[in-house]
Amino acid sequence: MIGAGCEVADDAGGCLVIDLAAIRANYAFVAGLVAPSPVAGVVKADAYGLGAVRVARVLAEEGCGDFFVAHLSEALHLKPSLPQDARLYVLNGLQPGAEARCAAAGVLPVLNSMEQAMAWRDLALAERRRLPALLQIDSGMSRLGLPPEDVARLAETPGFFDQVEIKLVMSHLACADAPEAAANGEQLARFERLAAMLPPLPRSFANSGGAFAAPKFHGGLVRPGLALYGANPVEDAPNPLARVVRLDARVIQIRTIPAGTGVGYGLTFTAPDVTRLATVSVGYADGWPRQLGGRGAAYFGDVRLPIVGRVSMDSMILDVTALTDGALKPGDAVELIGPHQSLEDVARDAGTITYEILTSLGRRYARTYLDEAQTTALEINA
Ligand SMILES: *Cc1c(COP(=O)(O)O)cnc(C)c1O
Repeated sequence: MIGAGCEVADDAGGCLVIDLAAIRANYAFVAGLVAPSPVAGVVKADAYGLGAVRVARVLAEEGCGDFFVAHLSEALHLKPSLPQDARLYVLNGLQPGAEARCAAAGVLPVLNSMEQAMAWRDLALAERRRLPALLQIDSGMSRLGLPPEDVARLAETPGFFDQVEIKLVMSHLACADAPEAAANGEQLARFERLAAMLPPLPRSFANSGGAFAAPKFHGGLVRPGLALYGANPVEDAPNPLARVVRLDARVIQIRTIPAGTGVGYGLTFTAPDVTRLATVSVGYADGWPRQLGGRGAAYFGDVRLPIVGRVSMDSMILDVTALTDGALKPGDAVELIGPHQSLEDVARDAGTITYEILTSLGRRYARTYLDEAQTTALEINA
């Protein structure tokens, strides 16, 4: 559990606390769910905004040996922080011409198309060595991966599987957040039919949502991202994962306005009565969605403080009339994400998904990383 986020004196407008112990617990939870399938860590987009280097390090300590990022640039940045024997994969594959840089770094591309597969094979021939990679098949999402006709073409390409060492063949679910959806079973059937055209290889199919689906989806390597970061991968189900993120915003100014006074850009809110307002120093430049203007809230203790008017770039305005006068002062912190308001609540109010809330978390927050020992200390102080 995470204590209040702005306990440390600092000069930032908001405080982001990332509980690495909760990430450890979530990795162990997913590993237990899908055992004996091994579990990778998806740390693309800077580990969904939480810091790929820190996150990958704790995952490695928990026994994770396989890491996925989206771009080669992310892989090259992360590689030096991983244990020597960890495997690092680039989900989007490679841009034409990037193959030699990828191979030199010891990073494995996911080959998503005939072009990517042939370019990687050509490098293997040029370097006179067998180069490892993953192979992705499009089993029905139409995003990345070989389409069915190309799976057959690749299977018939002379020497390909001698020149390229395919470690895993993978695919990705379009409807993993609804584990019971018929589309998932259809994708699995298509994936298995297509993979059967290739030499026998371990298979990887499941993201976080897939980890919560039936064991037949788990295969040779499960690839969770979201679940590690504590957000619920399954829609409309209780969330069994440990909360990882706590976000607080600091109060800058408090005022009382008479009835009929307009608030914020565009004066989209007019106070119906005498209203006490608090301006807090988090805005859309911090990744706090502008869509939350007039819809979202912050919390002070158990009290919900609605966001009134539009969210500005660096601040937003809360209606704090529900608090007794003087209860909230400049410098105090209000909760944006925490025990009273989950990532799921924020995403719902903003009309988006938890992935977008996480990956948008701003760069200006004072960041604190907790791990086992410090978490305990905070709990004792709480
Ligand atoms: C992002 C991604 C994942 C992780 O997805 P989550 O839903 O965050 O678990 C797994 N596999 C692929 C191919 C991805 O692009």
